[in-house]
Amino acid sequence: MGLLVGRRVIASTPTPPWKAGLLCRCPACGEGSLYRGLLEVRDACTVCGFALKDHDHGDGAPYFVIIFFSTLTMALALWLELTYAPPVWLHLVLWMPLILLGSIAGLRMVKALLIAMEYRHNIHGFRKPNEPR
Ligand SMILES: [Zn+2]
Repeated sequence: MGLLVGRRVIASTPTPPWKAGLLCRCPACGEGSLYRGLLEVRDACTVCGFALKDHDHGDGAPYFVIIFFSTLTMALALWLELTYAPPVWLHLVLWMPLILLGSIAGLRMVKALLIAMEYRHNIHGFRKPNEPR
């Protein structure tokens, strides 16, 4: 038995939030892409039509990504400096791409994870499929 979401019948068990977050997928069907561009959430899922615009993850995703990547980068840079004492340009070449690419990738996944958690726990006005308005 499935649930009617938008135009499609999907599995009655929702996509696990970790999977929706890791793959940046729609929390309702687990198939449609969550993002229109790099970090802009679609208004609705292109596969099932579920309204994604109701999400409100606030500053949660940037907070988690900043804490994680700043800690990771500082630990690695400190280890490299204390172990090998490389020139400053090597630090810049190593850590700037890690920070930039890691933050963008991390932000996409954490934002998708938070949206999937909002959907799973019905927070911030996400309506479950077939729920009366
Ligand atoms: Zn969907």
